[in-house]
Amino acid sequence: MNPAKSVVEDNFERNIDKFVLKVNRVRQRASNIQQHVGKINLPQQEDTMLLQAVGELQTALEELQVAEEEMKQQNEQLAIARTNVEAERQRYQDLFDFAPDGYLVTDDAGMIREANRAAKLLNVSQEFLIYKPLVNFIPIAERRSFRAKLNQLLQTDCFQEWEIRILPRNQTTFDAAVTVSTLSNLEGKPEGWRWLLRDITVRKQTEAKIRDIELQNLQLQEMARLKSHFLAVVSHELRSPMNAILGFAQLLLRQSHQPLATNQENMVERILRSGKHLLALIEDILDFSKIEAGQLQLKLEELNLAELITATVEEMRPLAAQKNLALQVDFNLQDSLIYSDSVRLRQILVNLISNAIKFTDAGSVQVKVEELLEDRIAIAVKDTGIGIAEADLKQIFQEFWQVNQSISRKHGGTGLGLAIVDRLVRMMQGKIVVESQLGQGSTFRFELPRRVQRREIFS
Ligand code: ADP
Repeated sequence: MNPAKSVVEDNFERNIDKFVLKVNRVRQRASNIQQHVGKINLPQQEDTMLLQAVGELQTALEELQVAEEEMKQQNEQLAIARTNVEAERQRYQDLFDFAPDGYLVTDDAGMIREANRAAKLLNVSQEFLIYKPLVNFIPIAERRSFRAKLNQLLQTDCFQEWEIRILPRNQTTFDAAVTVSTLSNLEGKPEGWRWLLRDITVRKQTEAKIRDIELQNLQLQEMARLKSHFLAVVSHELRSPMNAILGFAQLLLRQSHQPLATNQENMVERILRSGKHLLALIEDILDFSKIEAGQLQLKLEELNLAELITATVEEMRPLAAQKNLALQVDFNLQDSLIYSDSVRLRQILVNLISNAIKFTDAGSVQVKVEELLEDRIAIAVKDTGIGIAEADLKQIFQEFWQVNQSISRKHGGTGLGLAIVDRLVRMMQGKIVVESQLGQGSTFRFELPRRVQRREIFS
């Protein structure tokens, strides 16, 4: 028997064969009767009646023959349908067998009735899995809750993504996501469950890693906040005594009634120089921590950029002169009025120009101002100094970062100047870029809107 044929189909075919046999027998008898009638000598009337009866029998037989043909035709169609059903069933069987997840079918007592290959997740071969209780593969400590869930399942049709631990034979447990749906019989009564098991160990590990990273991130944010706060407090506390030291050192140098001896004067001058250096450093740390904490507010006002640049460059000229460097300004703005923060703009220029002088031994430093489209301006500080290697350019605006610490130490500095410049330019809705070649020089160029917009929070 074809295994795909159902019992119903088989009975149906057998019945047709029997029916065809019977029709053939009746037909045979009818033709026998007809032959006999032809031979019998009956009175006229009876003869006619008999012939009529035989005629009707003949008609009934013909009708039966038609019915028989129709039945045969239906039978052929049934055979085609059966082949299609078989192909479909095979497709589903393949899907079931080769699916990457574990598929199981259990009865309503939780006994495994069918399992695909992926059920090797349970470390038992497919055939030995049949008739084993599924609960055998649940860790003992979790069996009670598993059974409770099974009871719940009798009331529900489907459980999505139920996470359980699975204990494969002779192996350690793993996390699995289970989807269970109820199997019902023809009357709609639940008679078992279809289980889809997926090993989610990797997913769980990734989730745990993400949680760890998020936690670390929060801790880092908190540490950064504490660091900024600490720097702000410490630098604020250092500023007042430092100003007092500077003030008294200046007083000592200026007082005329008790002049200092030459070596004393030298010492006080050194106190003053070192004090100024320390104060500048404290100011940088304070500014940077304020920017980081989002506490630095721009003081926007109408200002004359030409005047601001000229004044700043003149302040720096003695520094450039000490190193015999030419310091030039190339100003190309029609209208030099802009709306910005003069103190912070000056701070940006001082940082860039002093770096340019610091890292240039011969040649020149040039400040170039030009008009851009869409009401923007560009300011570039160009030097002919030591330059910066391409690999170092990426980190150049990072706080406390210095290209060559021994060179930077010789020149002094904290590595905060460019980080502050970058943050200030961004607060002013601009951006800064740097172009440089080792031994040739560097150009720091920043763009700004003519009118900086007031914003409450800067990031
Ligand atoms: P600092 O100058 O206090 O060290 P900065 O943040 O201003 O800190 O600069 C960071 C580093 O970038 C400097 O130590 C230096 O290595 C490099 N740098 C900055 N400006 C220039 C420049 N014009 N030419 C060459 N190197 C520079």
